[in-house]
Amino acid sequence: MHLAETTDDKAFRAEVRRFFAHDYPQDILAKVRSGQILTREDHKRSQIALQSRGWFAVTWPQEHGGPGWTPRQRYIFDEELEVANAPGVIPMGVIYIGPLICAYGTAWQKKTWLPATLNSEIFWAQGYSEPDSGSDLASLRTRAERHGDEYVVNGRKTWTSQAHWADWIFCLVRTSQEARKQDGISVICLPMDSPGVSVQPIVGIDGSHYLNSVTFDNVRVPARNLIGEEGKGWGLAKFILGNERLSYAHISRKREDLKILKARARDILNGPGSNAPLPPAFATKIAAYEIELDHLEISVFRVLSGADDGPVATSRLKVEATENAQKLTELFIELAGYDGLPADDRRQAGWADGIREEARFAQPAMAAYLFTRAQTIYGGTSEVQKDIIARVAT
Ligand SMILES: Cc1cc2nc3c(=O)[nH]c(=O)nc-3n(C[C@H](O)[C@H](O)[C@H](O)COP(=O)(O)OP(=O)(O)OC[C@H]3O[C@@H](n4cnc5c(N)ncnc54)[C@H](O)[C@@H]3O)c2cc1C
Repeated sequence: MHLAETTDDKAFRAEVRRFFAHDYPQDILAKVRSGQILTREDHKRSQIALQSRGWFAVTWPQEHGGPGWTPRQRYIFDEELEVANAPGVIPMGVIYIGPLICAYGTAWQKKTWLPATLNSEIFWAQGYSEPDSGSDLASLRTRAERHGDEYVVNGRKTWTSQAHWADWIFCLVRTSQEARKQDGISVICLPMDSPGVSVQPIVGIDGSHYLNSVTFDNVRVPARNLIGEEGKGWGLAKFILGNERLSYAHISRKREDLKILKARARDILNGPGSNAPLPPAFATKIAAYEIELDHLEISVFRVLSGADDGPVATSRLKVEATENAQKLTELFIELAGYDGLPADDRRQAGWADGIREEARFAQPAMAAYLFTRAQTIYGGTSEVQKDIIARVAT
């Protein structure tokens, strides 16, 4: 991939920038900028605004509503979205299950789920992990037994992100017991309001309700909701995980955060409004981080351009992107000090009214620091990614 932008790329960038400046809901950008937590409705309005231009399902084939962009255009779009402070799309529908339905769904599944996902009429959750099956996902025990035209699903999923916002869940279930544990697993989709589905909240270390446990008690699911062939879901699960692991880099968001970090560092270490150089000890840490971020960006370009591909590239990028994200939050925490400790309710507008201007970053920074610990866990832990790299590379 050439790093220099063509005239067309520049025009495209200008068009996307204009969209975020004028046609996208500005109140959502203001909420993100102020550190306020977004509601489901905010995310829905954001996604509908993107879709008004056909810019929501950016990785889908054009015949199903994707924009048909080049990798470079996708990269520019992500950059502009992040520079504008727009929230990232909720990935479970549009990034994880959508492309799988496009590639492997039946005509009925495509007709039923793709337009509804595209128009944000339905939100999805991802039901992979179970209390005793995380890294060793193939050991999962949630069962789906075939009874005529239906499956009856029993079991429990955990760490299910935003299941309390979801209308549908795509699940890995065991449809038969085979000698190899990866065999006999299937992918099935079911409505969250089906009788027998219950959702229990899990409050995270950052104080937010993002995670859930989902229990299935004799849930009856039409057989037509099974994606692909019965018992052959493991390959499909890996297809989704590949897309998931590519979606973590967020270079521009990190560059924007870096600008904020430098400004806050000047306020806190040199005094509000100061333009003096930062103390060398902290300036050196920022410089070291910036070099790593530049390296991450090149890694992303290599994957996007196809110069680097396959499971090793995907796993390497996941490790690099998520460890990089954690380092940035650590620099914020080093600055936040005691100001990061109180926990105000950031779902409310004006949550920061009583806090002095230069310390307002501290609470969102602490929450981000705590939540970002999870990045090297979800989507496959760093240790497991390194195992994959070692296995494939040797
Ligand atoms: C914020 C968050 C959101 C999530 N969202 C979802 C979701 O929406 N849907 C979903 O299905 N799941 C979700 N998960 C679950 C996530 O995928 C699992 O947490 C992850 O796969 C790890 O599984 P585990 O938690 O059971 O840890 P374990 O597998 O029990 O691992 C514990 C530790 O042992 C290490 N380890 C395990 N096996 C090996 C090995 N073979 N070699 C070396 N080290 C090993 C791991 O690296 C880890 O450090 C989410 C998790 C988090 C934290």
